[in-house]
Amino acid sequence: MTRAGGIILKSAREIELIRAAGRVVHRVLKQTRELAGPGVPTAELNAAAEELIRQAGGVPLFKGVRNPQAKFPFPAALCTSINEELVHGIPGDRRLSEGDVLSVDCGVRLAGYCGDSATTIAIGTVSTETQHLLDVTRSALEAAIGEIRPGRMWSEVARKIQAVVESEKLSVVRDFVGHGIGREMHEEPKIPNYWSDKQQPLDFELVPRMVLAVEPMVNLGTHLVGYGDDSGWVVITRDRKYAAHFEHTLAVTDTGVDVLTDGR
Ligand code: MG
Ligand code: MG
Repeated sequence: MTRAGGIILKSAREIELIRAAGRVVHRVLKQTRELAGPGVPTAELNAAAEELIRQAGGVPLFKGVRNPQAKFPFPAALCTSINEELVHGIPGDRRLSEGDVLSVDCGVRLAGYCGDSATTIAIGTVSTETQHLLDVTRSALEAAIGEIRPGRMWSEVARKIQAVVESEKLSVVRDFVGHGIGREMHEEPKIPNYWSDKQQPLDFELVPRMVLAVEPMVNLGTHLVGYGDDSGWVVITRDRKYAAHFEHTLAVTDTGVDVLTDGR
């Protein structure tokens, strides 16, 4: 196993296995986008997702995950986070409404390797402000992907994400970050979407065959977040304004980047 500063580098074969898991994740997100609409309960999206994952021979990565703050292991294949919910929303009876935004995060393990991707879906017609939030968050992820190449420091990419978001008067979430991924959903390194002197110890050089889950989380108002209920899972914005989340699993190549969860 090759490592670069504690980060596991993957072989070409392993990257193809991660892509295979990523293809299943992509299909799930596509299916969720097609099924989601006003009146649809998030539990229905989750049931369809789990069925697709199992039919593909995969295992839902999030189901059964524990965290020290949470009262119970995560119970679902999808995280479904509505409006002011940022991440880790739990699918249930709540029905989506016109004007909502739904962030959907999905992870799959297939043949021992993991893929992880998220998208935020507009339910029916959303306000101009909400659409702007979605557009900017998606462009922040695209801008990050455009910056990734060997020899770059992550801090340069993080500054780019932050600049894209803050130039549009939105805020980047600090308390949650991206991560390395491979045999495990969460591997080294931790990948912030913003940068200041405090992040300097986390900086790393992008090296071919690193596989990373890059996931900007963006809020309409304050960057501050907290828990939305006593489950210890659902994270919400502190000012209850809407949030968005886009994520891809990607590999650094010899010349740039290869996105592994875009369905190719
Ligand atoms: Mg994810
Ligand atoms: Mg992730």
